[in-house]
Amino acid sequence: MKKLTGNQIRQDFIDFFVEHGHTAVPSMSLVPGGDATLLFTNSGMVQFKDVFVGTDSRPYKRAVDSQKCMRVAGKHNDLEDVGRDDTHHTFFEMLGNWSFGDYYKKEAIGWSWQLLTEVWGLPKDKLYATCFQDDKGNVPQDDEAADIWKAQPGFDPSHVLFYGRKENFWQMAEFGPCGPCSEIHLDLGEERDNLRGTDHVCGVNGECTRFLELWNNVFIQYNLFEDGRLEPLPAKHVDTGMGFERIVSVLQGVDSNYKTDLFTGSLDVLRSLTGHTEKEMLANFTPYRVICDHARSAAFLIADGVVPGNGGRNYVTRMIIRRGARFGTKIGLKEPFLAKVAEAVIAEYGDFYPELEKNKVTILDNLTREEVRFARTVEAGTAHLENLLSEIRAANQTTLDGHKAFDLYSTYGLPFEISRDIARELGLDIDEKGFSEAKEEHSKASGGGKAMGKLGGEDSEFFANIFKDLLAKNKLGKDGIEYDPYNSPKVDGEVLAIIVNGESVSSASLDDVVEVILPKTGFYIESGGQMNDEGYIRSLALSGAEAWEIEVTSTRRAAAGIITHIGQVISGQPKVGDKVTAEVDTARRHNIMRNHTATHLLHKALHAILGDHARQAGSLVAPTHLRFDFTQPDAMTPEQIERVEKMVNEAIAADMPVVKQTKSQDEAKKEGAMALFGEKYGEIVRTISILESDSLLSDKTQEQAPAVQSKYSYELCGGTHIDRTSDIGAFLIVSEGSAAAGIRRIEAVTGRGAYELINKRFKTLKQTAGALKSAVEEVPVKVDALQDEVSELKKELANLRAQSALTTFNLQLANLQIVKDVSVLAVEIPDSNVDTLRMLADKFREKYPKAGVAVLVTGSTIIAVVTEDLVKRGVKAGDIIQSIGGKGGGRPNLAQGSLHENNVSDALGKVAKAVEEKLK
Ligand code: ATP
Ligand code: MG
Repeated sequence: MKKLTGNQIRQDFIDFFVEHGHTAVPSMSLVPGGDATLLFTNSGMVQFKDVFVGTDSRPYKRAVDSQKCMRVAGKHNDLEDVGRDDTHHTFFEMLGNWSFGDYYKKEAIGWSWQLLTEVWGLPKDKLYATCFQDDKGNVPQDDEAADIWKAQPGFDPSHVLFYGRKENFWQMAEFGPCGPCSEIHLDLGEERDNLRGTDHVCGVNGECTRFLELWNNVFIQYNLFEDGRLEPLPAKHVDTGMGFERIVSVLQGVDSNYKTDLFTGSLDVLRSLTGHTEKEMLANFTPYRVICDHARSAAFLIADGVVPGNGGRNYVTRMIIRRGARFGTKIGLKEPFLAKVAEAVIAEYGDFYPELEKNKVTILDNLTREEVRFARTVEAGTAHLENLLSEIRAANQTTLDGHKAFDLYSTYGLPFEISRDIARELGLDIDEKGFSEAKEEHSKASGGGKAMGKLGGEDSEFFANIFKDLLAKNKLGKDGIEYDPYNSPKVDGEVLAIIVNGESVSSASLDDVVEVILPKTGFYIESGGQMNDEGYIRSLALSGAEAWEIEVTSTRRAAAGIITHIGQVISGQPKVGDKVTAEVDTARRHNIMRNHTATHLLHKALHAILGDHARQAGSLVAPTHLRFDFTQPDAMTPEQIERVEKMVNEAIAADMPVVKQTKSQDEAKKEGAMALFGEKYGEIVRTISILESDSLLSDKTQEQAPAVQSKYSYELCGGTHIDRTSDIGAFLIVSEGSAAAGIRRIEAVTGRGAYELINKRFKTLKQTAGALKSAVEEVPVKVDALQDEVSELKKELANLRAQSALTTFNLQLANLQIVKDVSVLAVEIPDSNVDTLRMLADKFREKYPKAGVAVLVTGSTIIAVVTEDLVKRGVKAGDIIQSIGGKGGGRPNLAQGSLHENNVSDALGKVAKAVEEKLK
C-alpha cells in the first residue's frame, strides 16, 4: 500500500472521478443555506437535495466533492461516540461522487472497486459489500447491485451480504425520492476486534470494531407516495459518501482516525502543553481525542460564521468549545489552549478550505474568549451540579430534572452535554427532554427562538398543484413564473390564479386579502436581507366595471416555480384571466437599492478599518434604513465609527459605477468575489462590482471588460443595486452596538433617510440655538457657559442652604430640653442634606462636649449624635433612632438612618423620653 498524506488522499479521490468525467465542486457551508429544516449540513447530499427532488438543476451530470459535515444534533448526532471510539467525529469530511440522471450502479460500483483496490491497493479479500433486501417485503431486492459486485475482478462473491431497511435503504423524507444503498466494509483483522474473547456479533454491521464501514453508495431510483406506492424515477441518481478520516486511517495503516496525519499537528500541540509522552497520551487517549475533534469542529464552524452563542447553531459552537475546554482540565490544562490546537487545524486544512486561513483571527479570538468566559463560572457550576447530583442520589433517583440542568446552563454556562458528561461519570443521567423544554420556554420568553422557527411552506403542496395545473394548461413554462426584479419595475400579464383564504377562486371582492399569481414578476422577493417590494397590480381597463386595483404589500415563493403577490383589493373585483400591469413602488425600491449598495460600501470600509475578520454576519436592507451585523469582538471606538462613515461617504462622492454581471460561481470565486456564509448560491451567480474609476472606459466597454479595471468591492449578491455610488447621496451611521457575542451591529441611513435625519438634527440644533439666543455655531460655547453658570449657582445654593440650616440650628439651641443632666436637641432642618446634618452634629458636639444628645432630621434622613460620656452611661445613637421609630445604625456616638417623612414631628417628640429611658 502506498503511504499517502491525508491531503493527497482527498486529492486522489477528486482526481479519480474528474478523470471519469466528473466536475469537482466545492463543499457547501456547514450552515445549509436555504434549508431551515437542518441545523447543519450532515452529509454530502444536502447541497444537491434540490436536484434530487427536481426543483433545480446543475450544468453538469457528474460531480465529485469533499463535503464538510457536522453530526452533532438532530437525526444524526454522533456526539456520544466521539472520543470514545476512533471512527466517529462531530465534524468530518465526506467524499462523494454524484450522478444526476447519468451513470448508475454499474459504473458507481465498478469505480469504487477500482479506486479502492487498484488505485489504493486495498486487499480484495478483506472487502465486503452490503445490498438491500426488504424486511417489509414491499421493495424489490437489489439483485442488480449484488450481481455487479460479484462481477468485480477479484471480489469474493460470498462477501455480498443483504440487509434490510434500517441499514440499506435511504429515504430523504417520509415520501419522495428514495432507494437502496450498498455499503462497503473492510475487515481490519481479528486484532482490531475490541471485544475479542467475549460473546458478541463479530462481522459486518456487528458489535465490535473489527469491520469498518467505509463508503455508502445510494442509488436513488424510486419515488415513494403517501399511499405506499413505489414508482421508478424517470431519472435515477447516484449519491455516495465515504468517510474521509476513515479511509485515511486505512491507507496510512493506523488503528485510529486520530493517529492519521490529519490530527498529528493537533496532538503534538496538546502534548507539548501537557508534557505527556506518546505512551502516556495513549494511556489516556479519550480527552485528547475529544479535544482534537472539538477544536477542529469549532474552527470550521467559526470559519462558517457560527460563533459561540446561546441559541440554535451558536449554542452548538459554544457547547463544543466548552466541552473541549473541560476535557482539557482532565489532562491538566488550566490556561486557554484551544486556539493553539486550532492553529494546527488551520495549518493542516487551510489549503483545501481557505475559509480557515481567511478567518484565522476570528477563530482564534473566539475560542480564547469563550474559554475565558467559561472558566469564570465553571467551578461554581460544577460544584452546584455535584450538589444536585448527590441530592438525587440520596433520594435514590438516577436522573436529574432537565429544567434544573437548564438553570445550570443559564446561570453558570454549563451546557447540557457537559452536565450530562459529569452526571454519567458518576453513574447518573440527566433528562434531555426537560432541558430542551426549558430552553424552548426560555427562548420564547426572551423573544428569541426564531432562528430555527417556523419554516413556512406548509401550503407548498397546494401551490405545487396550482403549478401543475397551470403547466397542463400551458399557462406557464416548466421553469414556472419568470422572476426578474432587475429590469423593468412594470410588467404586463394575465391573472393566472387568485387565492383567498387558502382557496383558489375565480374572482375576489373589495377588501379581500388575496394572493395573486402572474406569469412574470418584477417584484423582488425578500432574500439576502433585502426586503420585499411593494406596489400595485392594476387591471388594464382603467375605468368601467372591469377596472380594479390591488395594493401589494408582500411577495413570496409559495412552491417551486410559483411566486405570489400578497395584498388587498382596494377597488373593483379582480378576476382570473384579467389583463393587468404589475408595478413596483419605485420610490420605495430606490431607497432600498441605495441602502443595499451602501451595505457593500460599508462592508468594504469595515474590512479596511477593522480588518478582514469583520465579516458580514447578517443584514437587513429596508427602505428606511440598513442594518449590518459583522464579526468583531469589541465595540468600535467613536473614532473608528467616524472613519468608517467617512470612508463610505468618500466612496459615494467618488461616483463609482456599480456593475452587475452573471457568471459561473467558480469564475466569480476565482476572481475573488466575496461570498457570504449561510447563503446558497447556484452555479450561475450574480456579482456586484463597484469599480474604482471609470474615467477611461465608457459604460459599454466596462460591461465587457470590467476585470481590467480595479474593483473597489466585489460581492456575490442577488439584490438590486443602483448604477453609480453617488446615487446613494449620503451615508450616516445611526448606531453601533452588540448584536450577539462576538457580533456587532451597525444601523445606518442613506439618501432620503440621511436627508431626513440631517434635517431633524438640524432642526433640533436650530431650536436649541433659538432657545439659547445664539447663532448655531455658538451653541457649544453657549452650552459650556451655561453649564459653568449652573454649577456656580449650585454651589451658591448649597452655601445658602447650609447657612440657613445653621441659623435654624442656632435658633433651636435656645429650645434645648434638659433631661436629668443631659442637654437634648431634637430638630428638623428643612431643605438640607446629610452633609449639612453632619456638619451641624459636629457643631453640637463642640458646644456640648459632655452630656449632650442631638437628633437632626431633614426629609427622611435622620442623624443622631451622643457624647462619649453618655455612651458609657448606656445611651447609644442607633438605639435612639430605633426607639423613636426610625431605621438605621452606625457607631454608638454617631448613627444615621431613615425615618418616614410623615412621622417626623411625632418622632422628634419622643427623643427626650428615649434618652431618659436609656440613661443609667
Ligand atoms: P456509522 O454507522 O459508522 O455511524 P453511517 O451509516 O451513519 O456510519 P452514512 O450516513 O452512510 O454513515 O455516511 C457515509 C460515510 O460517512 C460512512 O460510511 C462513514 O464512513 C462516514 N461517517 C459517518 N458518520 C461519521 C462520523 N460521525 N465521523 C466520521 N465519519 C463518519
Ligand atoms: Mg452513523
